[in-house]
Amino acid sequence: MLRSTKIVATLGPASSDEATLERMLHAGVDVVRLNFSHGTADDHLKRAQLVRSLCQRTGKTVAIMVDLQGPKIRIGKFKDGLITLRAGEAFVLDAECEEGDETRVGIDYKELPHDVHPGDILLLDDGKVRLRTESVTGQEVHCRVEAGGVLSNNKGINRQGGGLTAPALTPKDMDDIRVAAQLRADYLAVSFPKSGRDMYLARVLMQAAGGSALLIAKIERAEAVEPAALDDILAACDGIMVARGDLAVEVGDASVPALQKRMIRVAREQNKLTITATQMMESMIASPVPTRAEVSDVANAVLDGTDAVMLSAESASGMYPVETIESMHRICVEAEKSVSLTLDREFLDRVFTRVDQSIAMATLFTAFHLKVKAIVALTQSGSTALWMSRLNCGVPIYALTTETAARYRMSIYRDVYPLMISYAGHDREALLEEAEQVLLDSSVVNVGDIIVVSFGEPIGKAGGTNTMKIVKVGEHRRP
Ligand code: PEP
Repeated sequence: MLRSTKIVATLGPASSDEATLERMLHAGVDVVRLNFSHGTADDHLKRAQLVRSLCQRTGKTVAIMVDLQGPKIRIGKFKDGLITLRAGEAFVLDAECEEGDETRVGIDYKELPHDVHPGDILLLDDGKVRLRTESVTGQEVHCRVEAGGVLSNNKGINRQGGGLTAPALTPKDMDDIRVAAQLRADYLAVSFPKSGRDMYLARVLMQAAGGSALLIAKIERAEAVEPAALDDILAACDGIMVARGDLAVEVGDASVPALQKRMIRVAREQNKLTITATQMMESMIASPVPTRAEVSDVANAVLDGTDAVMLSAESASGMYPVETIESMHRICVEAEKSVSLTLDREFLDRVFTRVDQSIAMATLFTAFHLKVKAIVALTQSGSTALWMSRLNCGVPIYALTTETAARYRMSIYRDVYPLMISYAGHDREALLEEAEQVLLDSSVVNVGDIIVVSFGEPIGKAGGTNTMKIVKVGEHRRP
C-alpha cells in the first residue's frame, strides 16, 4: 500500500547487520539516520556502505541522514559511576571538578557558570533531575535539588527556557561534517541551531568538504521556536526536525504539541521539509506492539502534515526494529485516509513568481481537479516535486530524474516517489515514451490511465520546468 509519509529509522547495534537492515528496508524505511552522538566514524562509514549496497541489490531508494552531536551540554563523571540526589539537598556543578561525588560534579561546558543566574532551573538527564540555581561563585554553580533521582555519568544539562550560549557546531561536528561528505550523506541534521547563521556555517563547511547534503535544522532550543528565529533558520535550511526530546526539556513538555503543529505548518508554507522525532514508538523498544497513545501520536503527526516520522532508540537499540517500522507504516497509511484535501483554499494563499514553480502549481491544481492517476515530475534537482508536495492534493507524485543525488534526497518528500530515468536525447515524444515505460515497469500506472506530466523544453537542455502536459498512458508508445 502506497504511503505518503516517510519513515526515518536510526541505525545502531540492533539494526546494523545485513539481514536486519534488509528486513527494515522491506518493512518501509525511507531514510536511515546515523547518529553521530554515538559510535565511531568507521562504524558510520560501514553502515552507510551497507545501506548503499542493499539499495543497489534491492532497487529501493533509502537516503542517508547524518545527525551531528552538537553542543550537548553534559555533566562529567562520578567516582562511582552514579549518585542518588534527594529533594532539598545542596549540589554543585563545578567547572573545575575532575571526579564527582554526592556533593558536586564537573561540567564539560565551562561557560555554564557565566550563563546561569540565581533562580534558574537546570534540568538534568532530560528533566528527570531538577536543580534550582541559588548562587554562582567563580567556576561553581550552587544549586538546591528540587526533584531528585539517580544521576549517572555524562547526563545532559538544559536550562529551562533556554539561553545557554554554546555554539551550534563543535570541533567534533566540524570533523563529522567531513565524514558526512565522505559517505555522501543525503541529509545533514544540525543539532541545537539558534539562528540561520549556524545553518549557513554548516552549509559552508559541507560545501568545502565536497558534500551536497540537504540541511535539516533540529529545533530543540527555546530560542529557535520564536517566530523570527524560526523564520531565520527556515530561510537558511532545507528542512527542520521537530526534536521533541530536548525541546520538551527547554520549553516544557506541554508546549510541544502546539509547537509541532505550528512548525510543520510554517515550514510547509515556506517550501521546507519536516521530520517529527523522538519517542514516537518508545514502548516498542521492549514491546512488540505500540501503546494507544503512540498510535495517536504518529497519526497526529501525519495529520499535521509532517514529511517524515522518525524512530530513535526503537530502531537503533530496541528489540523490535522491523516490527516497529511495520507498525509505523500501518498507522501512517490509515491516518492518511483521513487527511483533508483542501487544496483550493490553501492554493489561493500560495505566493510564487518563478516559471518552474508556476508549472508545478498548475500541475498540482490540474491533478487535483481531474483526479488523475499520477503526477509525473521530470526533474533534475527535485524542486518541482518539492513544491508540489507542500500541498495535499491526494495524487501521488512520481519524480523521474537522471540524477542519483536527486533520487535519494527526494525520498523524504511527502507524497513523492523517486524513480530513475536515463533518457539523454532531445526528442519530446521519445522522452515521454521512456517516462511512460518507467511508470509501467514500476506498476504504478496502466495503459489508458490519465497522468499529468511536468518537464522542461527544449528537451535535453539544462533549464527549468516550463511545460505541463496531460497524457493518456500508452499514447506515446510507438507501434
Ligand atoms: C531530540 O532531542 O528530540 C533529538 C532528536 O535529538 P537527539 O536524539 O540527537 O538528542
